[in-house]
Amino acid sequence: MSSPTNTSSPTEPARAGAAIDVQQLHKYFGDNEVLKGIDFHVDNGQVVCVVGPSGSGKSTLLRCVTLLETPTQGKIFVEGVEVTDPDVDIDRLRSRIGMVFQQFNLFPHMTVLRNLCVAQQKVRKLSKEQAVAIARENLAKVGLSEKEQAYPAHLSGGQQQRVAIARALSMQPQLMLFDEPTSALDPELVGEVLAVMKELAAEGMTMMVVTHEMGFAREVGDKLVFMDGGVIVEEGAPAEVLSNPQQERTRAFLSKVL
Ligand code: ADP
Ligand code: MG
Repeated sequence: MSSPTNTSSPTEPARAGAAIDVQQLHKYFGDNEVLKGIDFHVDNGQVVCVVGPSGSGKSTLLRCVTLLETPTQGKIFVEGVEVTDPDVDIDRLRSRIGMVFQQFNLFPHMTVLRNLCVAQQKVRKLSKEQAVAIARENLAKVGLSEKEQAYPAHLSGGQQQRVAIARALSMQPQLMLFDEPTSALDPELVGEVLAVMKELAAEGMTMMVVTHEMGFAREVGDKLVFMDGGVIVEEGAPAEVLSNPQQERTRAFLSKVL
C-alpha cells in the first residue's frame, strides 16, 4: 500500500518478509531532531534487541512504529502496510501490535481476568466467553492462572508485568514491542519476566525489545542494535556486537553496562 503523494524521500517498497521496516526515519520534537535517519527492520519471527544510553531515541523509535509519535520524515511499514501513509487505519495497525512498557499500566480497579478481557470485548468485539477462554490461555502461559481473581495491587511487580504481557497477548498480535519491560522491577523479579519473554521468542513471536539486559539480548536476540544520539551506531549478531564491538561509542557504552 504505497502513498502516491509521498515522493519526498527515495525510499523503497517494504522489505519482503519484514514485520517492521523503517526507512530513513527522522523525528523532531520542535527543533530537536531525536531520530536522524534511522534504517531498521525486524524480520518475521526475529527478536531484535535495541540498546543504548538514555535519551538516544529508543522509545521514540518504538513509539513511531505504533504511531504513538508521528514520524516527521521517512517511511515505516508494519507487515507490509505503510503506517506512514496518511490514510492508514491506526486502530487496525495497533490491533496487530502488542505493547509492553516499563510501567505495567494495568487497570487497578479490575481483576487480572478483567484486565485481560476488557479490550478483547470492546475492541475485538469478542463475547465474554471467548475473551475469558483466551485470557485463561495466556494467564497459563505466563504462569499466573491462580491469580485471575486478584487485583494488580496485590501482585508483585514481576507478576504485574507478566499480567501485562498476557494482556497484550490476549489481543493475539502479530508482533510484540517491549520498552524496557524489566527496568522498573526489583532485581530478583527480573528473571521471571525475561523467562516469559524467552518462551514467547521460542514460540516464534516477532519481537522488538528495548532493554538493558545484555544477557537476554545475547541469549535470545537474533540481532542487537546499538543506538546513540538518534542514530544506529552499530548492529549485528548479539554475541558479535557484545564481544567485539566495532565502534568506539559502542565500546564505551558496553564498558559501562557489562
Ligand atoms: P530513550 O528511550 O533512548 O531514553 P527517548 O526516545 O525517550 O530516548 O528520547 C529521545 C530524546 O527525545 C530525548 O532527548 C527526549 O528528551 C526527547 N523526547 C522524547 N519524547 C519527547 C516529547 N514528547 N517531547 C519532547 N521531547 C521528547
Ligand atoms: Mg526509553
